[in-house]
Amino acid sequence: MDKFKTYVDANRDRFIAELQDFCRQPSVAAQNIGIREMAQKVLARLQQLGANARLIELPGGALVVYGEIGSGKRTLMIYDHYDVQPPEPLELWETGPWDAAIRDGKLFARGVADNKGNLVCRIQAIEAYLAAVGALPVKIKFVVEGEEEIGSVHLPQFAKENRALLESADGCLWESGSKDINERPILGCGLKGIVYVELHAQGAIRDLHSSLAAIVPDPAWRLTWALSTLKYAHDHILIDDFMSHVRAPTPAEMDALKAIPYDEEKVKADYGIAAFICNLTGVELLKKYLYEPTCTICGLYSGYIGEGSKTVLPNHAFAKIDFRLVPNLTPDLVVDLLKKHLARRGFSDIEVKLTETGEEVARSPLDSPIVRAAIDAANAVYANAPIIYPTAAGSGPMYPLCQALGIPAVNAGCGWYDSRAHAPNENVRIEDYFEGMFFVRALIDRFAAM
Ligand SMILES: [Zn+2]
Repeated sequence: MDKFKTYVDANRDRFIAELQDFCRQPSVAAQNIGIREMAQKVLARLQQLGANARLIELPGGALVVYGEIGSGKRTLMIYDHYDVQPPEPLELWETGPWDAAIRDGKLFARGVADNKGNLVCRIQAIEAYLAAVGALPVKIKFVVEGEEEIGSVHLPQFAKENRALLESADGCLWESGSKDINERPILGCGLKGIVYVELHAQGAIRDLHSSLAAIVPDPAWRLTWALSTLKYAHDHILIDDFMSHVRAPTPAEMDALKAIPYDEEKVKADYGIAAFICNLTGVELLKKYLYEPTCTICGLYSGYIGEGSKTVLPNHAFAKIDFRLVPNLTPDLVVDLLKKHLARRGFSDIEVKLTETGEEVARSPLDSPIVRAAIDAANAVYANAPIIYPTAAGSGPMYPLCQALGIPAVNAGCGWYDSRAHAPNENVRIEDYFEGMFFVRALIDRFAAM
């Protein structure tokens, strides 16, 4: 009889109640709600686990919860975050975002998939390991931050100041992770970078009667013309010199794509789209998805957008744009290229405002011990073989916390295809949650044995 399984089964109700308790504490970084309370909760739970844990203060930033437990030849860093996205729009939730209600075998709560489920699952798995298996065969270092959802603004500073504490890690189990649309666990070995900017066009000092548009510049048109120079209808990014910085994927990176079974028909049906951009399919589709940068208009605003007509000449227009970055694009480089590109086309009047600190690209070697241990563990625990993504399409602070310190990272977690992170009715399936504990146990054993 597997003692680990016996322990997990015996503590099932308490484990679920504890996850609910974490989910019922709001911790919205963007709104500065409940962040301190949540940090205290994480600290208390790590101390209860037996970890040597403390809060690390960052001037102007959220507390980082740091904890160490176990000993062994290898050191495993576990990175998670205790902050969550804002819950709005509230009216689209079937049960409240902080209710942590259970329906149809799923727990619904803001942050349960991203990332409290993984955080609590990992802590409980280690509790079960200590209680049922014995001493940990690796040293574990928890880094749990509270600003991931607002761009981990202070984490690079944390990583720099605590380099001596962190750099001995041999690998990192990164936050997040899910099964794909065909129930295959996804292991991600990297993240795209990101930079987020606002473009502002200014017209007259106030809104004017639209008859004056004959002689007074319209900022909505200025912005539209400027935006139209950034991308071509066939989805090519046209910013001067931008694409020349994109490193072509290596043959090994292309091979990694060929091994990814991506169910295009199911994904298109789920999103309600007839085709992907440029009718891409197969390896070309995945190449664009994972190895190419994006330039996305995330928001666009000007003038009157209420009901009926209002003949107004707006005095201001702005757009919010994010760029997802791949090697060798960096946030600073992109902002610089964008400004020069606009200036060269006579759009110096359009102000480029940096809204968040950017994040750099990170990629871990596919043959690093942590990645190999994760593949072995997933093969041992899950019904379906894992899919290895050489990089995820999303972003996070993997560069400062791991890559810059020479620590390879892999992400794997207890979400599923329809976990709806960042959206209403975010959820994890209870069985995935418990399966995740067995993955953590297997990962610890295999990483120690590598
Ligand atoms: Zn998130």
